[in-house]
Amino acid sequence: MKTLKKIAVIHKECVACGSCLKGCPRNAVAIYKGSIAVVDGAKCVGCGKCAQACPANSITLAEVAIV
Ligand code: SF4
Ligand code: SF4
Repeated sequence: MKTLKKIAVIHKECVACGSCLKGCPRNAVAIYKGSIAVVDGAKCVGCGKCAQACPANSITLAEVAIV
């Protein structure tokens, strides 16, 4: 049976400010040198706190299938 879960998805509008890193209770977001923020889908629980904290509105939640 397929299980669905929500994860945060970062879009290209990200300005790498770091607000989402601070707001994430699961430590699921990282910013690597010279890149936009990246979400670790295995750690993310889809709580949406990062999206609320993002000043660039560059995070949405997406439903993904876990296999
Ligand atoms: S949705 Fe929640 S757990 Fe996932 S990256 Fe955002 S703040 Fe972290
Ligand atoms: S809060 Fe938004 S703009 Fe800032 S690093 Fe996270 S995704 Fe990028």
